[in-house]
Amino acid sequence: MILDGRAVSEERIGIVRARVAASRLKPVLATIIVGDDPGSRTYVRMKHQACGKAGIGSAGIELPESSSTGEIVEKISSLNNDPEVSGILVQLPLPAHVDTGAVMTAVSPEKDVDGFHPFNLGCLMSGRPRFIPCTPKGIVTLLDHYEIPIAGKKAVVVGRSIDVGRPLAALLLNRDATVTVCHSRTLHLEKETVTADILVSAAGRAGFITTPMVKPGAAVIDVGINYVDGKLCGDVDFAPVRDIAGAISPVPGGVGPMTIASLLENTLEAAEWLARPAP
Ligand code: NDP
Repeated sequence: MILDGRAVSEERIGIVRARVAASRLKPVLATIIVGDDPGSRTYVRMKHQACGKAGIGSAGIELPESSSTGEIVEKISSLNNDPEVSGILVQLPLPAHVDTGAVMTAVSPEKDVDGFHPFNLGCLMSGRPRFIPCTPKGIVTLLDHYEIPIAGKKAVVVGRSIDVGRPLAALLLNRDATVTVCHSRTLHLEKETVTADILVSAAGRAGFITTPMVKPGAAVIDVGINYVDGKLCGDVDFAPVRDIAGAISPVPGGVGPMTIASLLENTLEAAEWLARPAP
């Protein structure tokens, strides 16, 4: 079974559009991009286009590569205080001289639609999530859409980043999976991955997950974004792994579109939260 993230994402975006249309809300996503990285610009453009599809407004703020941490934090503070702005997204990676942690912490937790603020990550860890980081949220939405069971299953997540591996592990744990997190210092990676009912690869290495690493019938989720000879591919050696997996997400057309759908859901939730009646 191919897990068609593109189709599921379209469906989710349609639901967001209907919810926005049925409400009096005018959600707005503000994005901040620092510098001229072409990849980051492409991602931000895609996010703005998706907002348009969902009836969500968007505002793009572009800061020069030379911006200091203080200058970026100042911009974020003004967006935090702007009642027209529902969600704030700072496109990563930031230039090397910028303190990424300080920037993430500057975003108001109430507008943190990427879910990277320590408050929101803490909520997720404590099992009472508010904003869930978009890629892990999209992965679980995709599994749920295809009715792939999570509770009681063995999940192995390759990658321990703050944006994918760690929050995904927490999310799967909250859903009663038995979770193993692997990384570059894991010994005998294959012995771990081959036990997985749900195997997620977020290593960022083309062709990294091969058939001996996959349990027959497993659900294989490919988060990786890699370019080989200019062609986009994931971490999974797709054709042979597809033949033994029970379900597999392709690249492109798998996790990427789900990430964008989750961003729109989070932005709408932020707008709803900000508009809630005072207690
Ligand atoms: P990071 O580089 O932050 O993390 C990569 C992780 O993979 C690290 O934890 C690293 O281990 C681990 N890793 C690297 N090599 C190996 C190895 N040989 N064996 C075991 N573990 C390994 O990347 P991200 O988590 O941000 O992203 C991962 C991939 O997913 C990238 O390709 C990225 O572009 C893509 N991505 C896709 C998204 C989407 O929407 N489709 C969204 C976000 C990311 P260690 O910690 O020890 O270094």
